[in-house]
Amino acid sequence: MPIFSPRRYQPPFYPARRPGNPFVRAFTVVERVIKGWLFGCRMCGNCILQETAFICPMTCPKGLRNGLCGGASAERCEVDPSRPCTWYKIYERAEKMGRLDRLLEINAPLDGTRVGHETWLDTVRHWRQRGQGPRPIDLFVNGEKFRADWDGFFYSLRQPDWWQGDARHHLPAYDEPVSLLEANLRVSSFVTTAEIAPPLTAATKAMLKKADLLKPMVAAANFTDNASATARMNSLASSKLCLDTGLEPVMQLQARDRSRVVIESDAMGAAGLGIRNILCLSGDHQTFGPAPWVKPDQFDMDAVQVLWMLRRMRDEGVYLDGRAIKQRPQFFLGSAASPCGAPPKFEAIRAEKKINAGAQFIQTQPIFDHNRLLDWLEALDRRNLLDKAYILPGLIPLKSARVAHFMGEEIPGVMVPPDVIKRMDAVGDDKEAQQEEGVAIALEMIEKLKDTPGIHGMHVMAVHWEEIVPRLIAESGVPTPRFQNWEEWTAYNAAPAAPQPVT
Ligand code: SF4
Repeated sequence: MPIFSPRRYQPPFYPARRPGNPFVRAFTVVERVIKGWLFGCRMCGNCILQETAFICPMTCPKGLRNGLCGGASAERCEVDPSRPCTWYKIYERAEKMGRLDRLLEINAPLDGTRVGHETWLDTVRHWRQRGQGPRPIDLFVNGEKFRADWDGFFYSLRQPDWWQGDARHHLPAYDEPVSLLEANLRVSSFVTTAEIAPPLTAATKAMLKKADLLKPMVAAANFTDNASATARMNSLASSKLCLDTGLEPVMQLQARDRSRVVIESDAMGAAGLGIRNILCLSGDHQTFGPAPWVKPDQFDMDAVQVLWMLRRMRDEGVYLDGRAIKQRPQFFLGSAASPCGAPPKFEAIRAEKKINAGAQFIQTQPIFDHNRLLDWLEALDRRNLLDKAYILPGLIPLKSARVAHFMGEEIPGVMVPPDVIKRMDAVGDDKEAQQEEGVAIALEMIEKLKDTPGIHGMHVMAVHWEEIVPRLIAESGVPTPRFQNWEEWTAYNAAPAAPQPVT
């Protein structure tokens, strides 16, 4: 067990090319042993220990380098419950050390040429090549300069030219909305999106029927991307089929099982097909899926890194490798959040990082506890985030008491309060009565959401029960989308502005 980090989940990396110099090889072994003993170091060669309160983020089973996943809890990691969550430990120690804001910088994915190599000699080499300090003498004669040089030096070391991550918010480099979902969110006080499960088969009829049913009711439909590490029709194909019906899709794009090259290529393909809304996710770990387990390293990137990369493709017109993109893709980028996961103050840091990286809208895990949503929104407000992204809290109408128990007990990051479980249990075995109670609970939640400051609508996840969505919208009285096609948006923009009162 390392002294400063939780036990590592996977063994250290070895370099793709062994160093030719025997001294460097021997040095690498020494560094591997010492840093393994101290930090559980996996020799990623891209050290960010200074940013993560001296706890190695690579001990996280998903290798997340930018914050915790949606299923983290104080007691255990969602992937391997025998170990604590690495990122929980990082947040806790960073808070004690007063270094929480250092967690906001967007860290790069691993640079394979450095993986498995020593970093100490590399640091000295970099310092000599850079020739700008920090100079040890300044530590005694000019502390401020020393600290600035120190920070600049380590920034240049950990942020390669092809990444250049920072801790600032970047406004999108365009004015007109790129999708109808964005247009609706800009002018409406309450916008609804809904989820449609992609089919398990090659038959698309049922999915298209659901898209037709939802078209007049919601601004866009999400298509999951092999959620729970379970294969289905992919999100890209489902999104395109949905788009052809006239309903705008939100293509979910998860990092799991994809390299950075494939993510860029899938996103560019989506843009070419006219899909504009992309929800960037890290993805569920393979241990949640039914397939025979694949090798443990399934995450080349995390959600924050995907957002950063796609935002730069759109706004700066560059691929990760530096090639210029002549015709830039148009994306309206989103991400997920877990208001009931970690404590709101930690979840707010995670949300800030995603928003800074490029998230323009956030769809949350299902909310059953409105007070917990308010706590999370308050934490976001304290970080001045509420005017930087559209927030759509998740809503799941409970179809049965069994589903209520399952959601509360098995789904990481979801909290179903005891009174909700009690209500569902109290109905008895009658299936229809249970569904009616689930609808009543959902309608009560929508009533609260309508009056919740800081949110912009809701995201309904009635998976395999999509036909309930029109009823929820009709009975709750929330508005249907203002713009269902671009002609409506154009007409809205062409309409003369309302006369201003004379003062
Ligand atoms: S709970 Fe998530 S973030 Fe925490 S260590 Fe496990 S995989 Fe990593």
